[in-house]
Amino acid sequence: MGSRTEETTTDVLIIGAGGAGVRAGIELARHGIDCLVLGKRAHGDAHTIWAAGGINASLGTLDPDDRWDIHAADTLKEGHFINQPEAVLTLCREAPYRVLELDEWGAAFNKAENGRINQRYFGAQSFRRTCFVGDQTGKAVLTASINEAKRLGVPYRQNIYITKILTDDTGVVGAMGVDLDTGQLTVIRARAVILAAGGHTSVYKRSSSRPDENTGDAQALALDAGATLRDMEMVQFHPTGRAWPEEEAGHLVTEAVRGEGGRLYNTGGERFMERYSPEQMELDARDVVARANYREIQEGRGTERGGVLLDISHRDADFIKERLPRMYEIHLEDGVDITKEPMEVAPTAHYAMGGVAVDFTTGATDVPGLYAVGEATSGVHGANRLGGNSLAEIFVFGKVVGAHLVETLTEHPLRPVPQQAVAAHADELSAPLERTEGPAPEALCEEIREVMWNAGGIVRREDDLLAGLAALGSLREQAATMQIDGDMTSFAFEQGRNVHCMLDAGEAILRSALERTESRGAHYRDDYPDTDPAWQRNICVHKSADGLTLSTTSVPDVPEAVKEALQENHTLDYHHLE
Ligand SMILES: Cc1cc2nc3c(=O)[nH]c(=O)nc-3n(C[C@H](O)[C@H](O)[C@H](O)COP(=O)(O)OP(=O)(O)OC[C@H]3O[C@@H](n4cnc5c(N)ncnc54)[C@H](O)[C@@H]3O)c2cc1C
Repeated sequence: MGSRTEETTTDVLIIGAGGAGVRAGIELARHGIDCLVLGKRAHGDAHTIWAAGGINASLGTLDPDDRWDIHAADTLKEGHFINQPEAVLTLCREAPYRVLELDEWGAAFNKAENGRINQRYFGAQSFRRTCFVGDQTGKAVLTASINEAKRLGVPYRQNIYITKILTDDTGVVGAMGVDLDTGQLTVIRARAVILAAGGHTSVYKRSSSRPDENTGDAQALALDAGATLRDMEMVQFHPTGRAWPEEEAGHLVTEAVRGEGGRLYNTGGERFMERYSPEQMELDARDVVARANYREIQEGRGTERGGVLLDISHRDADFIKERLPRMYEIHLEDGVDITKEPMEVAPTAHYAMGGVAVDFTTGATDVPGLYAVGEATSGVHGANRLGGNSLAEIFVFGKVVGAHLVETLTEHPLRPVPQQAVAAHADELSAPLERTEGPAPEALCEEIREVMWNAGGIVRREDDLLAGLAALGSLREQAATMQIDGDMTSFAFEQGRNVHCMLDAGEAILRSALERTESRGAHYRDDYPDTDPAWQRNICVHKSADGLTLSTTSVPDVPEAVKEALQENHTLDYHHLE
């Protein structure tokens, strides 16, 4: 190992300091287990803080008929029945406890007149189930969790970019990365590693994600370590990203705007959801509304800036300012007063349903000692995610994986890291810094995003997917000769690593989308517009010396506990909102 490599040891290394990673750390620390939470950004600055609209839990504050099994039925229906049913059960049964816990830790949820946590409508849900802190729920729940983690003394390191999971013949022995503040190589030995490093929607040109996060790190690290990915073709496109200004394009206009009564119009003044979904209107599932917006724009009924109009100005100005304070402020900064005029919105890549395959009772991947949690994983949401279910997932399963390791850590002895692998990876990291010519990482990132938007976007076709795969193949060749102008503390270095992660995640998406010759949930194939019952299966992606390979698995049966709620066939009566 080179002299500049620092080595530390912990029992459980948690890669990722969003809600999922922090919640796992809390569970471990509560039981006196040594752990280390790290993120590639500053402490408190994880993607979770961008979550706006809310977190789902069947508390029944306003709708006492709501139950956890109806929440589960809604989640399975929205997932078009390729979710892992046991995961859905756990999510919906446990979410109320996690929300109440967050409130106790100081998340300060909005309260109803009866003093209980208030709840709002979110798309495709049968009841008002989404708990919220104005429109800054993610920030509130992450801050409350970090405060609890600090109280318990959970150690944290910031600005560490993990670039490799280290394994020996029997499983995981730790991870390796770079301290982005000092440029020092870092090896962390651990008995178990939890991947909580988020999703991959930044592989798209238009994304609600911040460009420096969600670059597919978790999925690429897992593939490289020998773990399996699942449902990678399932990418959620949110109907309402901002259409302008250019630097904000794709950033989210929260679903809470429609949840609070916002209506969509085309430039002809038509409330076009009446044509696409006369019953559910603007609150139909995200894929339905996203495709409606896409069609209106494609067929020339959109604005000059390529959007449609989202209007909530029929509601009282004080109500808008109280319920949607951030939306009000960010639009006002660009001269749009949403209490008086509509916003311009267009679809944007928003959430990755696909990711690392885990056993949801433990969080374990198929590599011994490697666990995963949060948006890094796949299975809870199936072919589409209900808004508000992701925040619920990260806290529910953060606790599950932490609790499992409390029980089983002794099965994972601390072992030496393979020095040869460490040295080889150190050479791989420094090679682009030593080149004097070659493509720049920024340009490669942009090209990948363009390819993914055109080939793997809202509407997919075989010829586009094949063209996209060929383009990614050529970009992969260019990435092998990339030159980085800067050292390991530079943003260019970080982008160079993002290129590798984005290529793996992007290729897994396109290959899986090509394989799935049907339309289901968020995956829409123009050449296969119908849902094919034979495709009620999950597509898995593995990495071998020859590249990525695919296989499929069947979906387990829906448990009895949820069958009844499914048969009751609850749907939202959207006229509640009129
Ligand atoms: C704009 C927006 C609004 C949303 N609103 C809602 C909502 O209202 N309700 C809801 O339920 N969901 C919402 N979501 C989704 C939800 O916010 C996320 O799915 C969830 O916060 C993911 O949490 P996480 O802990 O899994 O990952 P993240 O919060 O993404 O955290 C990932 C962590 O991993 C670290 N990391 C990543 N790569 C590396 C690496 N290589 N090395 C070291 N560290 C690394 C990051 O620094 C970060 O600390 C929204 C998403 C977006 C983009």
